[in-house]
Amino acid sequence: MRAFVKFGTQAGEAGVREIAPPEPGPGEALLRVAACGICGSDVHAFNADPGFEWVKPPITLGHEFSGTVESVGSDVSGVEPGDRVVAVAIQGCGLCDLCAEGSTQLCAERVALGLSRDGGMAGYTSVPAKGLVPVPEDLDLKTAALGEPLAVAGRAVGVRGEVREGQSVVVSGPGPIGVMCAMLARSRRAEVLLTGVGPDTEARLPAAERAGIPTANLSDAPLEDHLRRRFGERGPEVWIESSGSVRALDSAIKAVRPGGRVVVVGLYAQKMAFFPTDSVRREIGLVFSYSCNLADYTAALGALASGDLDPAPMLSEFPLTDASAAFEEVRRGRAVKALLVP
Ligand SMILES: [Zn+2]
Ligand SMILES: [Zn+2]
Repeated sequence: MRAFVKFGTQAGEAGVREIAPPEPGPGEALLRVAACGICGSDVHAFNADPGFEWVKPPITLGHEFSGTVESVGSDVSGVEPGDRVVAVAIQGCGLCDLCAEGSTQLCAERVALGLSRDGGMAGYTSVPAKGLVPVPEDLDLKTAALGEPLAVAGRAVGVRGEVREGQSVVVSGPGPIGVMCAMLARSRRAEVLLTGVGPDTEARLPAAERAGIPTANLSDAPLEDHLRRRFGERGPEVWIESSGSVRALDSAIKAVRPGGRVVVVGLYAQKMAFFPTDSVRREIGLVFSYSCNLADYTAALGALASGDLDPAPMLSEFPLTDASAAFEEVRRGRAVKALLVP
């Protein structure tokens, strides 16, 4: 079968290879992959960026996939051939207190599909059966591959951000997670503004606009002007930082209104310094949101199935054989969410 494999430790040492299809081991299910999204973390692994040294080649990348169960290994119950499923991207040990609470993404023994074991940029993939989520009947299987990024966004907006109707919400960073955060905040009837910078001008901000999200390009005018135009003098109540820029996080902490909340869902390559007393005196809530768990997936797939949310404006589809070109489109910011189809 074909698979997109990171075969070396150097930047760009990855490509489509012919490899033997996997066999499902004990507790595993073999999936025929319907589609697999390219995530920012896949691009980091592809580029061998700092912080991704733990991704050990050879490995088939991809954790945002959906598929149909082809066969199951021994010791599998509740999953059968023909089931339409999505796999939870970060799986816990299933034994510790955090896993028992459902916070598997925080488990010390967690395993990341497509980064610490073979993932879904392939014709077939074998995954732990206990981490499979059923896809609702009326949801197209390819679209269900968006379950993971939408679950990450849903956790940031709903669980960690507790965004409510009528609130003013800024989302910084119009990558797929940012656009989905903005869509979800809007579906909660919040007043939303999605901010981006120069490199987002070509594809990302226009894609968000097509999805009906009000945007602000910070290379056109200062942030304060955009905020005043959208929200008046009161400032945003919630700020979701998904760009991974420490400068954007610094702006968020300073610009959110007193008593407001900053939700940090980006990943950062730099340290930052800030003056805590200022945030204490303004009672800023600073919370972090990491990945997602089973409950977040179920909510995300439900939102997609209900038609509440139309991801079409942000999608581009590529055959798996063109994976290298698709990575390049994502890396250059020309594709918001690229789906690879085997
Ligand atoms: Zn992802
Ligand atoms: Zn655990």
